[in-house]
Amino acid sequence: MSKSDTMGTAATITGQCLCGAVTMSMPIPTSEATQICHCIDCRKSTGCLAIPLIRVPLTSFHYQGEISTYYAPGLSGASVGRVFCLICGSQLWDTSSVETDKIWIKGGLFPPGSIPIPTLEIFAKDMEAWEIPIPGAHLVQIQ
Ligand SMILES: [Zn+2]
Ligand SMILES: [Zn+2]
Repeated sequence: MSKSDTMGTAATITGQCLCGAVTMSMPIPTSEATQICHCIDCRKSTGCLAIPLIRVPLTSFHYQGEISTYYAPGLSGASVGRVFCLICGSQLWDTSSVETDKIWIKGGLFPPGSIPIPTLEIFAKDMEAWEIPIPGAHLVQIQ
């Protein structure tokens, strides 16, 4: 056990954007904190059909690098901030004006093998007919 363990610091994982200018660290995610979003806004902003989002308390999240944020109203009425790397444009994490103490990080920024199986899929109504739900995950039509 290292000194930091005895001080209560959780083990972390580190991710980065495509160009490497932005690096991020967060506690090793749990399945409960991991979900897949299929909403139209996530589709448009990433170009992907299924987006792995990891809920992280702001207090245990750290990053370095130059970022920018695009704000758009979410379906819930909250203002959703979509944070991206200023150099390569990689999508990094989302913020919400309703839950300001946490962020939702895009799981693909972290190395393969570091993302646990999600327990929840949201906006299932926007899934393609051929998309296969994750075994055991709770599917909700909206959020
Ligand atoms: Zn970058
Ligand atoms: Zn979404």
